[in-house]
Amino acid sequence: MASSSSSSSSAVPQAEAFPDGTTDHIPLRKKAYDIRKPHITEQPITWSNWYQHVNWLNTTFILIIPLVGMIASYWVPLQPKTAIFAVVYYFYSGLGITAGYHRLWAHSSYKASLPLKIFLAAGGSAAVEGSARWWSSLHRSHHRYTDTDKDPYSVRKGLLYSHIGWMVMKQNPRRIGRTDITDLNEDPVVVWQHRHFIKCVVTMALIVPTLVCGFGWGDFLGGYVYAGILRIFFIQQATFCVNSLAHWLGDQPFDDRNSPRDHVLTALVTLGEGYHNFHHEFPSDFRNAIEWWQYDPTKWFIWTMKQLGLAWNLKKFPQNEIEKGRVQQLQKKLDQKRATLDWGVPLESLPVISWDDFVEQSKNGKAWVAIAGVIHDVGKFIADHPGGKALISSAIGKDATAVFNGGVYNHSNAAHNLISTMRVGVLRGGCEVEIWKRAQAENKDAVPITDSSGQRIVRAGDQVTRVSRPVASADAA
Ligand SMILES: [Zn+2]
Ligand SMILES: [Zn+2]
Repeated sequence: MASSSSSSSSAVPQAEAFPDGTTDHIPLRKKAYDIRKPHITEQPITWSNWYQHVNWLNTTFILIIPLVGMIASYWVPLQPKTAIFAVVYYFYSGLGITAGYHRLWAHSSYKASLPLKIFLAAGGSAAVEGSARWWSSLHRSHHRYTDTDKDPYSVRKGLLYSHIGWMVMKQNPRRIGRTDITDLNEDPVVVWQHRHFIKCVVTMALIVPTLVCGFGWGDFLGGYVYAGILRIFFIQQATFCVNSLAHWLGDQPFDDRNSPRDHVLTALVTLGEGYHNFHHEFPSDFRNAIEWWQYDPTKWFIWTMKQLGLAWNLKKFPQNEIEKGRVQQLQKKLDQKRATLDWGVPLESLPVISWDDFVEQSKNGKAWVAIAGVIHDVGKFIADHPGGKALISSAIGKDATAVFNGGVYNHSNAAHNLISTMRVGVLRGGCEVEIWKRAQAENKDAVPITDSSGQRIVRAGDQVTRVSRPVASADAA
């Protein structure tokens, strides 16, 4: 919000260098807090000190003033012209945050001309979300330390905390992760706005809308209440949703190790910032939505500025890299789904049974069938066999490799999958030999393919029972 409490003490004359290449930011305004003194957040909240834990400046800007505005709106009629202007001004201040603070300054996803920078810094001031310097510094920290304790608005601390809790309650500046903002300190627009932030806010957020509505159509009070205070409230709540809703609601098509998510609803609320899973993966891309039909007015605005010659160097991640991320995430989901299915006992976990034992057990009532060196117990399946009881029963106690693979009936992929769930053993000198033979014949590595969690991947047509050129077996011979 409006404060700059993350700055360090003004007693430090020069920027202190840290091993990770960041420097301690030299405050550009009067210091808000001496980082070397104990911080209030180090004490537990009690009935006697709770008010010291509250960040009253932020609370005033994001809760108390909107509340006053809402009460005032009861007595102030909303004129149509003022309503239209409030919506237009809402979009302007929103773009100041999304196209300016976020995509230009926090992520340097494009270059902007001086007039465009001034336009965006003024719009951002009208949204009352702190200076671009303060906002971008925290946002870089959010990207660098997403979901950890150093993340200034980690959703792991709760949805309400990530939405406004982190601003309403004081935060220990020593906890927030360090970031490098040397580029922002070299941007005269950013530095000027930071130094004169309170003046910028009062002018852009309240005076301008009041004067436009007042001199435009005589509605000073309406301009102040609706285009000023209530618009501030709505744009703040909308953009705060990027920190809360976009880390809580939606899909994760690119990576699911952290909380950011893609959802059209969040995009609608935040001028296109809702494709947040993509954004956290590809933060320097000037787009958040990569499909033409997705709602990303911030992207459309930046593109239009490029056409007008006011913006250039619009950064895009190569499509090849984006698709790689998508495929890896799909693969991960596939692995998770595969892990829930019964693929049969792994061959190496099955007992090794000799041919004589196999024949003996089959004679003594076991409904065992050998296919490609693997013994299957088909007892429970005989009655359900689509080819009838007779054929399957005739294979009991025999090697049915050739019969199963086309000698009598060329079984479907589903049949090979199903029979793998009936495995009970491997024939001594059978299975291993067959696998080795097939690997030799197909010139493949004999090591089975596994996914990242070590689960064996059985592709269609690749089951162990599938033998493309049936070997001569006792039964088929
Ligand atoms: Zn985020
Ligand atoms: Zn970002």
